[in-house]
Amino acid sequence: MYDFIVIGAGISGALITRELSKYQGSVLLLEKENDVGNHATIANSAIVHSGHDPEPNSLKAQLCVRGNALYEVLEKELNIPLLRTGAFVLAHDKEEEATLDMLYRRSKTNKVPDVHYLSIEEARTLEPNLSDSVTKVLSLPSTKVTYPWEVALSAVENAIMNGAEFRKNQTVTSIDYKDGIFVVKVNKDECLHARFVINASGAFADQVAAMLEQEVPYKITPRRGEYFVLDRRVKGFINRTLYPVPTDKGKGVLLVPQVHGNILIGPNSVFQDSKQDITNTKDGLNYVKEEASRLAKDIPYNQVIRTFTGIRATSTYKDFYISSSKAYPQFIHVAGIDSPGLTAAPAIAEYVVNDLIKKLTPLVRKTNFNPYREKIKMFHDMTPEEKKEAFKNEPRYGRLICKCEKVTEGDVIQHIHRIIPGDTVKGVKKRARAGSGICQGGYCEVDVIKLISKELNIPLKSVNYYHQDTPILLKETKVKK
Ligand SMILES: Cc1cc2nc3c(=O)[nH]c(=O)nc-3n(C[C@H](O)[C@H](O)[C@H](O)COP(=O)(O)OP(=O)(O)OC[C@H]3O[C@@H](n4cnc5c(N)ncnc54)[C@H](O)[C@@H]3O)c2cc1C
Repeated sequence: MYDFIVIGAGISGALITRELSKYQGSVLLLEKENDVGNHATIANSAIVHSGHDPEPNSLKAQLCVRGNALYEVLEKELNIPLLRTGAFVLAHDKEEEATLDMLYRRSKTNKVPDVHYLSIEEARTLEPNLSDSVTKVLSLPSTKVTYPWEVALSAVENAIMNGAEFRKNQTVTSIDYKDGIFVVKVNKDECLHARFVINASGAFADQVAAMLEQEVPYKITPRRGEYFVLDRRVKGFINRTLYPVPTDKGKGVLLVPQVHGNILIGPNSVFQDSKQDITNTKDGLNYVKEEASRLAKDIPYNQVIRTFTGIRATSTYKDFYISSSKAYPQFIHVAGIDSPGLTAAPAIAEYVVNDLIKKLTPLVRKTNFNPYREKIKMFHDMTPEEKKEAFKNEPRYGRLICKCEKVTEGDVIQHIHRIIPGDTVKGVKKRARAGSGICQGGYCEVDVIKLISKELNIPLKSVNYYHQDTPILLKETKVKK
C-alpha cells in the first residue's frame, strides 16, 4: 500500500513526485510509456514563459509567474539547462499595437518582472533579422528556454534518489475506491493500493478521471501544434523568443532559440479528435511558414533538419483544473495542463502538495532530502584535464559515435546506465543527443542499437526504436555461410 500514487510521468507528474519525495511516506509514479515525458513534455516550444499572456487572477497566471521563478532554483538543484534569452512580442499595425498595450498592462497585473517597450531601432540592434513589417516591440526579459524533457527526467531521478518508486510500461486501466483506499489496476491485472491518487495524465486526464468519477468536470479537447527544427548551425539567427501578439487561437507561431543551439519555428493550433496523432501535415507546416515570415526575414529553411507535432491537453474548463475531486477528495485532478504548463510545472507541484494535499493530511518533512542531482557531463563539455581523466577511466570516450552532435561511445554508455536508463534508440537520443543532428541518426543509430544490446545484454532484435514493441532490426539479411 502506497501513500501516494501519481499517474503520468510528464513534467507535471515528475515534479509532483519529486515534491512528495521531500516528505515521509511512500510515493509511486506510474507511466504507461517506456520512458518519462514521451507526450506533451517532449514536443513543445520549451519556453519558460514570463506570464505576460494568461488572464489575470487565473491559476495559469499565478502558477506561470511562480513557476518561472522556481526554474532558477531547479537549475541549481537539478542541473537542468536554462537559457535566459528574454523575448520580444511583435506588433505590425495599430490593432496589434493595442493588443500589445493590453499585454503590457496584463504583465503588470500578473507581476511579470522588468517588462518594457523597446524602440524599433533598439530591437533591430538586438535582433537584426527582425521582419521589416514590425511596428512596435514589447520586451520580456524574464522569458527563458529549457529542455523540458530533461527537467522531467531529472525530477524523477532525483525523486528516486529520495525514495520514490518509478514504474514504466504501467497503464492505469481502472480505479476503484473501497474503505478509504484507492485500488489502482495497471495493465488490466495487477492491483495497487493508495491513500491518495494524483491524476497527471495529460491529454488522457479525462479518461483516467472517468475510471473513478461519475461526472468529470472537464473534457480534454486535443489541440495539435506543428514545428520545423533548424540545425544548430543557425545559432544566432535569432537570440531571443519572438512572439506575435496572441489571438483567440493562442500565442501564435513563434521563433524560439533552443538550449542546444537549434531554432524552433511553430506551432500552429488545430483541434483534433485523436490524443495521439502526431503526423505532420502539409497545410499545418505551410501555415507555420507563412506566419513565421511576419516575425523574421530570410528564415533559413534550407537548414531544416526535421519537423514534429505536439498535442496540447486543452480542456473545456479553460484554466488549469487542479483540484481535489468533490466525491473523492483524496483523488487530485491535475488536468487541462496546456501552455504554460511546462513553465508552471514546478509551481503546480508546490500547489498540489501545499494547497491541496496538506489540507487533507499532515506531511512530515524528511530531514535527509537531497535536492541535488548531478548532471552527466558530456565529453565535449569537459575541460582538457577532465577529458584526460575520463579517457583514462573509460577509453570508449575515444570513439566518436555521433559526428553531428559530437557524442562519443563513452557518453552513450553513461546514458544507457543512468538511474532511468536510455534503453531505446530514442531514449539515447533524448539523453545523449546521438541522432539529434543534421543526419538525424543516419550514421549513429546502428552503433547505438549495438551498444544498447551489449550493455543491457539483450538481443539486437529486441532493441526498440521508441515505444514498446518498435524493434528496428527484424531479421538478418546477410547471413555468413
Ligand atoms: C505544441 C505545444 C507547445 C507548447 N509550448 C509550451 C511552452 O513553450 N511553454 C510552456 O510552458 N508550455 C508549453 N506547452 C505545454 C506543455 O508542454 C505541457 O503543459 C506539459 O508538457 C504538460 O505536461 P504533463 O505532465 O501535464 O502532460 P504530459 O507530458 O502529456 O504527460 C502525461 C503523461 O501521462 C501518461 N499517461 C496517460 N495516461 C496514462 C495511464 N492511463 N496510465 C499511466 N500513464 C498515463 C502519458 O503517457 C504521459 O507520459 C506546449 C504544449 C504543446 C503541445
